Amino acid sequence: MSDISIAKLIQGYKKFYRKYTGQEYSDYRKAAALGQEPKIMVIACSDSRVNPSKIMQSNLGEVFQVRNVANMVPPYRPDKGHHHSTSSALEFAVGTLNVEHIIVMGHSGCGGIKSLIDGAPVALDGEYSFISQWVNIIAQAKKKVSALPRQEQYHACELEALKISLKNLLSFPWIAERVKQGSLSIHAWHFDIASGMMMAYDEASDSFSPVIEDNGAASARRNS
Ligand SMILES: [Zn+2]
Repeated sequence: MSDISIAKLIQGYKKFYRKYTGQEYSDYRKAAALGQEPKIMVIACSDSRVNPSKIMQSNLGEVFQVRNVANMVPPYRPDKGHHHSTSSALEFAVGTLNVEHIIVMGHSGCGGIKSLIDGAPVALDGEYSFISQWVNIIAQAKKKVSALPRQEQYHACELEALKISLKNLLSFPWIAERVKQGSLSIHAWHFDIASGMMMAYDEASDSFSPVIEDNGAASARRNS
C-alpha cells in the first residue's frame, strides 16, 4: 500500500532542508528565536492517517499536540512513581503555555478503540499489555455500546470515548477551574478518514454535528 522507507524519508528531509536554508522557511528561524506561543492544544491519535496539522492546515507554532493511542485523556491521578505523558503535556499546555482551547480529536477506524472492543493484541511479554491497561481508561464506553451490532460498536465507542476524555479533562482541578472562569474551552471532535468529515460534540444536545457547512451537505448526501 505504501512504499515508504527510511530512504524516502531522508529524501523528504533533504527537500525540507533545502527550503529551510533558503528564504522560504524563515518562519522556523523566527520561531527558534521567539519560542512557541500556541493558544490551542490538540490531543489526537498516533494513527498515521490523522495528523492534525495536515487536516487543519495549521502553521508553525500554532497548535501544541499530543498524540497517543486512541487520543485519550486519562483521569487526574497524581500518583508518585508512575509516568504520565499525556498529563504532563496537559500541565505544560495549561500552566505554562496558557492555551485557550483543548481539542480532543478522535477518528474513524481507530485501532486503539478496536482493541478495546475486540481485546488487545497479545502482550509481547506474554503477561502485561500496556495497550489493554491504557484503553481501559474508556472501559465505560465499551459497556455503553455493547448492545449494538458489532460493526456499529466501533464508531459508537469512538464517540463515547471522546465524551469520557472531556469528563477526564475536567477531573484536572486546574482545567476545571479555568473552564469555569471562561479562560479555557474544551472540545471533542471526530474525523472520518474516508469522507473527510469533521464532527464536533455539543454537550447541550449530547450529539455530534458537522464543524463546517460543506460537511453537512456531505452528510445529507451520504444519508439520502
Ligand atoms: Zn486511533
